[in-house]
Amino acid sequence: MPEQSANNFAGIEVAMTTMRGVLISEAGRTLDHQESKYEPESLIKSITDLAGELGKSGEIKAVGLAIPGLVNRETDRVLASTGLPFTAREHIHSELMEATGLRFELENDANAAAYGEYKAGAGRDARDIFYIGIGDAIGGAIILDGKLWTGASGCAGEIGHITIDTEGAECVCGNTGCLETIASGPNIVRRARERLNRDSTSSLSRLAMQESFTAGDLALEANNGDDFSVMMLERTGRSIGIAVASMINLLSIERIILGGAVMEAGDLILKPIIAEARKRSFQQCFEATKIVAAELGPDGVAIGAALLARDAQ
Ligand SMILES: [Zn+2]
Repeated sequence: MPEQSANNFAGIEVAMTTMRGVLISEAGRTLDHQESKYEPESLIKSITDLAGELGKSGEIKAVGLAIPGLVNRETDRVLASTGLPFTAREHIHSELMEATGLRFELENDANAAAYGEYKAGAGRDARDIFYIGIGDAIGGAIILDGKLWTGASGCAGEIGHITIDTEGAECVCGNTGCLETIASGPNIVRRARERLNRDSTSSLSRLAMQESFTAGDLALEANNGDDFSVMMLERTGRSIGIAVASMINLLSIERIILGGAVMEAGDLILKPIIAEARKRSFQQCFEATKIVAAELGPDGVAIGAALLARDAQ
């Protein structure tokens, strides 16, 4: 039943071609959940429609909008985004406020997810956290003493663009061999394909039978005991662990929370991450850091965005 209060907050996550929305009460209880697809040229209308759908479950006071890009929270402008349609970037915030008459809070998707975990998920009893979101891309966010720490430029926490392989593949950011070029969902699939093509023993893998597959399919096969898929997740986990070890040595942060679609592979990827991080970081720093999986699931970014909208009032 909808709560009879106007103090509800919507959170909307815009991904490459899809969006997810939630409606939460002021206390943080999820009242509704919606998903939809969108075309780049109708992004504003699709967001407005999704907010309208969520509004049927309870009156909305404000909306948190999480996007795959860097946001200046002072000016509510999108600074850079490889995932968002170009035409939508400049005035997305003002256009949405105008179209809906609602207050919108614009935020980077990893920052929103980090805030959600901090307030209502795996970081709720921690003071400082580092959140790493591994999905179509890899994002990160640092929360110190309850506040997002975004640094001098606003881009702090971009762990996906730390160099892991100096001779690696070219990254969307212009660098080569970033963590994202190894461990994001599409890059796990790319590496798996390359290996399936050149390695005769990998033809025994069930994945080799599939014409097209996703990182989610690979995780499923790994959980069904497919050796090749298990090995791909282990190798991916080791690369993530290298970056995590650097974060542990640099920040000695209380908790590192890993979320995003790739982490739905569970222990098959989390264990190699932890093992590699242990191997490569100072023992004292490692022992003071808890490395855990995110708890809010696929709606984590949207829930975090809604909580940001609530707390920004
Ligand atoms: Zn990069």
